Amino acid sequence: MPGATRGAAGGFAFRRARPYLGAVRRQRGKGTMNWITNYVRPTINSLFSRREMPENLWSKCPECGTMLFHRELATNLNVCTACDHHLAISPRARFAGLFDGAIFTEVKVPEPVADPLGFRDQKKYPDRMRAAQKATGEREAMLVAEGEIGRTPVVAAAQDFAFMGGSMGMLVGNAVIAAATRAVERRKPLILFAAAGGARMQEGILSLMQMPRTTVAVQMLRDAGLPYIVVLTNPTTGGVTASYAMLGDVQIAEPGALICFAGPRVIEQTIREKLPDGFQRAEYLLDHGMLDRVTHRRKLREDLIVIVRLLLGLPPAVAADLPAPAAVPAAEGAAPGPAEGEAKA
Ligand SMILES: [Zn+2]
Repeated sequence: MPGATRGAAGGFAFRRARPYLGAVRRQRGKGTMNWITNYVRPTINSLFSRREMPENLWSKCPECGTMLFHRELATNLNVCTACDHHLAISPRARFAGLFDGAIFTEVKVPEPVADPLGFRDQKKYPDRMRAAQKATGEREAMLVAEGEIGRTPVVAAAQDFAFMGGSMGMLVGNAVIAAATRAVERRKPLILFAAAGGARMQEGILSLMQMPRTTVAVQMLRDAGLPYIVVLTNPTTGGVTASYAMLGDVQIAEPGALICFAGPRVIEQTIREKLPDGFQRAEYLLDHGMLDRVTHRRKLREDLIVIVRLLLGLPPAVAADLPAPAAVPAAEGAAPGPAEGEAKA
């Protein structure tokens, strides 16, 4: 028995000593490896990736298959240089091309409850959200901003098709309401760029409830006598088409945009008939009285400036840049007066 006690005591002492030594050895090992793995390698990687990543980024046009250099594509507002196909564009890039001097401020959108149904298909809804946030760098599928176009103050909202198909969840509903509320508060027109695969199934009926909510938001603008202009981009489908995307005072679409409630494939399978060419495309809908105009993305800003000013009863926008009022001597101070007043109108 005494032997056994001694053995147990020895074992105890040994067990205490070994992890301690091991920890020291592991720490020493980390000390030398740390500098290489945690500092040197990431620095080298970032140096190379910073230079090489943009050069290697090419996109393929889904319409004609041409490989498009991303920088050239960006300067062309994401329109194919070969066939003029309008590719999806992020809300931020859209706003940069829309507002004067690419200057705009974001309008805050109230955050809804995250994952209210605890939804899960192949992936959990929060995981899908995180993946979409990482891929787009945006928090959700709609961005609201305010700024000036042709020196006319406006509020604009844009949907992001890259973010879970631009699907209309609670936040998109909140964004449309926030945009309309801001427009009414500041007496500004609202321009909305729609792009969506429809409602967000992960939010179930709560996503469908955004249809009446956004319709009420549009009604707020109507009651305030403020213009609401919708630009439909490829594709705008489902519940979005069935609510705020079709309620504009002026309905504009980008060329070739698919605009529908149920898509052509679904209809073809249901009625078992061949659909006409260009069915549910922007030009087809324009011919059938569903749209007011189809405008190329490059001409969109000019068109919007003209339409907004017409609807607000303002004189045409000044195309050239006006000199700064401060630079004018006091004696000639009267000259830039109307120009400045016009800009603020
Ligand atoms: Zn193309």
